[in-house]
Amino acid sequence: MEGVKVKTAKLPRVNGDEPAKEDVTESKRSTGQTATRRYYVKTFGCQMNEHDSEKLGEALLSDGLSPAEDIDQADVVIFNTCCIRENADNKLYGHLGNLRERGLLDPNFQVVVAGCLAQRDREDLLKRAPYIDVVLGTNNTSRIADLLRKAQESQASVVEVLDYEKESDDGEFFDITRKLWMESQRGQESGENLVTNSMDLPENPTTPRHSAFITIQAGCDNSCAFCIVPSVRGPEVSVAFGKLIDDVNRLAESGVTEITLLGQNVNSYGRDITVALRRIGGSDNLLLGSEKDNAQASDSDVKATTGQLLSAASRIDYERYLAGSRWVSESRRPQPLFADLLRAIGEIDKIKRVRFTSPHPKDLRPETIEAMAQTPSVCEQLHLPLQSGSDAVLKAMRRGYNAETYLRRLESARLAIKDLAVTTDLIVGFPGESEKDFLLTLDLVAEIGFDSAYIFIFSPRKGTRAAEMASEFIDEEVIADRFARLNAVIERSALAKNLSRVNKVEEILVEGLSKKDSSYFTGRTRQGKLVHFTPRYESASNTLESPKAFTTGSSHMPTAGDYLSVKITSAAPHHLFGELI
Ligand code: SF4
Repeated sequence: MEGVKVKTAKLPRVNGDEPAKEDVTESKRSTGQTATRRYYVKTFGCQMNEHDSEKLGEALLSDGLSPAEDIDQADVVIFNTCCIRENADNKLYGHLGNLRERGLLDPNFQVVVAGCLAQRDREDLLKRAPYIDVVLGTNNTSRIADLLRKAQESQASVVEVLDYEKESDDGEFFDITRKLWMESQRGQESGENLVTNSMDLPENPTTPRHSAFITIQAGCDNSCAFCIVPSVRGPEVSVAFGKLIDDVNRLAESGVTEITLLGQNVNSYGRDITVALRRIGGSDNLLLGSEKDNAQASDSDVKATTGQLLSAASRIDYERYLAGSRWVSESRRPQPLFADLLRAIGEIDKIKRVRFTSPHPKDLRPETIEAMAQTPSVCEQLHLPLQSGSDAVLKAMRRGYNAETYLRRLESARLAIKDLAVTTDLIVGFPGESEKDFLLTLDLVAEIGFDSAYIFIFSPRKGTRAAEMASEFIDEEVIADRFARLNAVIERSALAKNLSRVNKVEEILVEGLSKKDSSYFTGRTRQGKLVHFTPRYESASNTLESPKAFTTGSSHMPTAGDYLSVKITSAAPHHLFGELI
């Protein structure tokens, strides 16, 4: 963890003069704060970053701040950054530059940089933008309110980034995040358990919602040649099983009916837990004192001991930890607990839909497919990143599977799960990708017939292996041509998949009025497909603005969170149209 850094602000020129640093500091100190402070979070990157932003916002809400509608009205601006996409640095510094004057002169204005770029660049950010108040790493987002206070009180920039230092533990390398996790599981609060705290849900979520993300794991143990995630997010750290079940129960009680489980390598969830169990010689060692007694006692014993019954979630927690000891005693390889997690969440009544992203093809295990097929709330949707159809390119990418393995696993999933929608990620122009390699991708993608795909053009990320393959970089024009050809194949299969749904009746979860055309509502099917639909009115005089009744007899307008039946009337590659029935 870094210490407090004193701001070394380069001060703005005002009418050609350079004011003294002390002047600005004094000016900042002289203005008191009376009104409620407002925050604005600008998010770059993936769903995990979106979710981190949500948690940053909730932490500030809990600390008494309120959200601002735009950046100009905010007293605290947070840039939650991503370094996966190209030009992320430039985009960030562009946004920061716009805030330079306020950052230096306004005593109540604070700027935060969080996320992957903060984790990677830390103090270097202050060299280019000394008016940043807080630099916050990816593993301690829960510290946001404290760090803002610290920066304000000291009138200095604060950099706090949790590192993944390695240290020796019984002759093995053992990383600090797992050590912290173990300490928290043993009830040893001496180590600051910042990692799992950062994955916590806010205690009192203030925004009502029907759909929620939940981070089940942070970091990644893989080493894909193009990816910066392992070096900025660190190794995989799973949230304790029972805690997740408690969190999902809490969300269900607050009105959430759809859960999306998030992890960089989501289907290896829990592998670190079983590794840890092996290291300490069994799950029994995780249970302390009365907890240990409770786990081995009957419900009535537990009641007698503690005065209240253990919650179902706590019992599941114990059962899962005990299940871990099975692998320890049989000396089997530590296995993920993802399938168990799907089944356990499936038992929570009020949760009607469960999704997850992103699973890794090499970790798509038979028991996960079986759990998906046998758990009614798990949606018929699988995002399975392929990246390339060429074995040579997959090997260079260090993906850990070949085209045949990917195909076999996908076939198993399609066989087991009826009406499964499959989406993917693809990279064109990975260093060394020949035309022959690309044609293999094109053929495999056509054979599979994806429902949709994110196609990325390769761009080197500083600090990755692929960035060092400069001599094999592909010409930009060749990449553009390959992108267009691949996109055409994807669009074709996406349209075909969507056309096959015309005339079917789908259950959709309403998201609200369409942002593009307010004469439509939008919602999503279980397969994750976007549906624009219109209600049917009893008479032509009824309108969205003044509805009297729907032919279905609904007494209210479709509202975000409703589950409704819609008949699909037409299709395009990226959405469906339908009619409420
Ligand atoms: S699995 Fe590969 S692409 Fe995904 S986060 Fe890990 S290293 Fe990156």
